[in-house]
Order: sequence, then structure tokens, then C-alpha cells
Amino acid sequence: MIYDVHAHMDFFKEEELKSILEDSKIALVISNSVNMKSCENNLELSKKYLKLKLATGLYPEDNLKLTDFAKLKTFVKNNKKQVFAIGEIGLDKQEKCDFKIQEKIFIQELELAKELNVPSIIHTRKAEREVIDILENFKEQRIILHCFSGNFKLIKRAVELGFYFSIPAILIRSEHFQKLVAEVPRDRILTETDSPLLSPYKDKPNQPAYIRETLKKLAEIWKISEKEAENQIEKNTRHMFSIK
Ligand SMILES: [Zn+2]
Repeated sequence: MIYDVHAHMDFFKEEELKSILEDSKIALVISNSVNMKSCENNLELSKKYLKLKLATGLYPEDNLKLTDFAKLKTFVKNNKKQVFAIGEIGLDKQEKCDFKIQEKIFIQELELAKELNVPSIIHTRKAEREVIDILENFKEQRIILHCFSGNFKLIKRAVELGFYFSIPAILIRSEHFQKLVAEVPRDRILTETDSPLLSPYKDKPNQPAYIRETLKKLAEIWKISEKEAENQIEKNTRHMFSIK
């Protein structure tokens, strides 16, 4: 089965989304939120489509304000049952948002995940070391590093801290992710797409079904069958999200 732990299903038109989720091979897609509007849209989708799970969070986008966290906290408390994870959250030096504000909100969101006892799905760009430094204080929590492009020294630190890595479908042509998959213990690897972004195909938007290609590549790197690779990812995902 296909497990996509990081997608943005609210970015699709609902007709498209419906047909994407009809694929019987797809077991679960975690739709990550980027701001309050996106949290609300994903909440509605998660109530409508069983396979789609809600991750709530504030991405460090340009207009992020300190006061936004209170809104997120209220939203999460009011919809506790639907909240499957906190994401996507993190730090990004390429965004214009003040870095101190990003750090403060990121820490508050990690504390919220702790309170709820749900996994956190982490974004980071050009701030990988800062993110790992902060996460070191949350190492008893379930942490997923989404599409992590930090160096191998940081990757080693993250492994030692017990974190998981979700690997995007661009694995099929990314040397960095191929190396990461070869070096990180197999039981720490999850699959994701970041759909509709980060497509492995230049002419088509991304979608969860492309994880089929990821599984093929994982099997090749791990030197096992595709079925075994699929089973490994299923086991890792169920463990991370405590799915029985
Ligand atoms: Zn994303």
C-alpha cells in the first residue's frame, strides 16, 4: 500500500483530489497545513475522506505573526480528534519572515505536539543546523524530517536522536536522497510526495500515486523486492503514527 506522510491536498481542486484518492493502492495521505486557512480546509477534507488525515501547523511563510500561534492552539484544541500530526512546521532562511519569530512559533508548535502526543512533521531550508539544535530538546517526541537536505553530519545526528526521514518521490533522480536512503537505518524511512509540489516529472503536478516509483527505487537501493520495500514502509509508518 501507499503511505504519503507529507502532501498538501488542499492545494488541489476537489474533483482532482477525489479521483487521486480513489486509487485503491493508497492507504493514507497526510495533508499538511501551512496557515490557518489551510488548517480549516484540510480539516473539512479530513472529515470527508477517510484516507486523508489532518496535520495542522504554521509554515514559516512571509506574513507569519507571533499572534498566529494562539489561533492555531485554539483550533487544535477544538478539533483534537481530527488532528493526526503537527505540520508542516519549521525554519526557513529563504523566507522573509523574521527568524526570531519563526523560532518562537516553531518551539510553541513542538510543545503543542508534545501536549497532544502526536508526531511533528518538520520543514527546513537553509536552517538545518538550527532546526536540529532545537529538536534536540524534543528528542523524546516523534519527529519526521520532511525532505531533509542537510549535510550527512546533521543526518547522523538526527539518526542518533531517533528521528525519521520522509523521502520525496524525486528520490528517483536525486543523488542526495539516494545516499540518505543507503545510509540511514531502514526502519527510519517514510515516504512522501509534497504533492502537488516537487513532482518527479517536469510536465505533471505531483500526486501520492508516484510513491510507486519511490518504492521501486527503495527496493533497488536496499537490494530487496518491491513488496519487501512496501512492507518496510508500511511497518515504519504504522509505528510512527501508532496505527494498529
Ligand atoms: Zn510541504
